[in-house]
Amino acid sequence: MPHGGADLLLSERLAARRGMTMADECIFCRIGRKEVPSQPIYEDHDLIAVPDIQPAAPVHVLIIPKEHMVNLNDVGKNDVGILGKMLRLAAKIANEKGIAESGYRVVINNGEDGGQVVPHLHLHLLGGKPLNQKMG
Ligand code: 5GP
Ligand code: ZN
Repeated sequence: MPHGGADLLLSERLAARRGMTMADECIFCRIGRKEVPSQPIYEDHDLIAVPDIQPAAPVHVLIIPKEHMVNLNDVGKNDVGILGKMLRLAAKIANEKGIAESGYRVVINNGEDGGQVVPHLHLHLLGGKPLNQKMG
């Protein structure tokens, strides 16, 4: 699709107008490239995990692939390994944070109705208190 089409997100159109790609501007890409300060809990070649800037629970960690993918709609068959790594890392961090036994929730918000605000795939790890039982 050509740049400027209605199919692009507003943020993508603004980035394109400045001659930058979405990945140049994307806050989670920038966290992954260490262009903005964060306190990584974990990092490897594929993933970075950081505390959420506005925690919704005593433990609220974001697990972010370094590669720019908008959400699950963007995950190709070559990327499925990353999803597995994200889930395994969630369990590992839950264990390290002492909430593996008390319980926790992992959430991936996708698109507008899913409540996704940052258009770069990420997993929320939430726990450390009884979480809201309502889903949907
Ligand atoms: P979403 O609604 O897209 O699933 O969640 C985005 C999350 O990213 C929100 O919980 C928000 O607090 C968090 N967030 C947004 N900007 C930053 C940031 O610059 N650093 C960190 N650590 N978290 C952020
Ligand atoms: Zn990104």
